Amino acid sequence: MTDPLLDYHNDLPVELSPPDITEYREGNSGVEYVQTMDSGTPGPHVLISAVVHGNELCGAIAADWLLQQAVEPVAGRLSVGFMNVEAYLSYDSNHPNRSRWVDEDFNRLWGPGVLADPKRRITSELRRARAVQPFLATVDLLLDIHSMQQPCVPLMMAGMVAKGRDLAAQVGIPSAVITDSGHTEGMRMRDYAAFRDPDSTRNALLIECGQHWERSAADVAKATMVRFLRASKIVENDFGHDWLKTMPAAPAQAFYKVGEIVTVESDAFIFDRPWKGFEHLAKDTLIARDGSRLITAPFDTTVLIMPSKRLHPGKTAVRLAHPISQ
Ligand SMILES: [Zn+2]
Repeated sequence: MTDPLLDYHNDLPVELSPPDITEYREGNSGVEYVQTMDSGTPGPHVLISAVVHGNELCGAIAADWLLQQAVEPVAGRLSVGFMNVEAYLSYDSNHPNRSRWVDEDFNRLWGPGVLADPKRRITSELRRARAVQPFLATVDLLLDIHSMQQPCVPLMMAGMVAKGRDLAAQVGIPSAVITDSGHTEGMRMRDYAAFRDPDSTRNALLIECGQHWERSAADVAKATMVRFLRASKIVENDFGHDWLKTMPAAPAQAFYKVGEIVTVESDAFIFDRPWKGFEHLAKDTLIARDGSRLITAPFDTTVLIMPSKRLHPGKTAVRLAHPISQ
């Protein structure tokens, strides 16, 4: 049964189709739907992660494309994983929001102690996260591919420590890089353990490629993945050249930091305008009302990061960022 939180109307065009990934079920890594290719020479273990959210098709398209290339890493190890497979396999283009998760958000389970908590409700996502976790613990560099509810410029979510920004700069796209700490509701996979430890060389990025079902999201996913693999130096320098040359030149990167997470508190949360994301607002501009609470822009330049349509108590409504220098 669909989680009622996900049963809301979609009024955006659905231009992408989900690739059939069932041929990857058995895998070769010991974890279903996780493929791994070891070069046999020293280098980082790189994981490309798709469908942490089952309704975000661009990651599946990029990961499937990469696997179809049968790319052999020249150093280290390359892995490709489909995460919330049960949700993804339930995708229905007539109700494309419903397949985001089965029981709960897979991307809120990665805080200290959560997966090992014996009192935690056993959900489809908890089972899958527990199956994936030992493999994830061997990953040095993670690119987690996502998309957004609203049409918005692509955003690189670089996590809470400076090393994420540095890695985003090496990748070079997209133009907007956001330093952030995620959600009050629970920690994301990209922030798991060493990925958020400033003293560890292990590192992670989360790319938001555009609106979930717009064609360009798949192109952004592929381009970012190619450049991420090049930056990790486990593929040839010109890997993906033929495909990348079809993409427009990337503008210079700009960096932002989330300074405030707005979490829904009441049953009467309403945005003042139909924000799409990445609007730049002057300080004190009214953003939303949460019951009697007024939410206004706290920074001289306040940048809206991914305003949500799932406005239920405990969920993130929007994140508020401001420009920073790298
Ligand atoms: Zn997502």
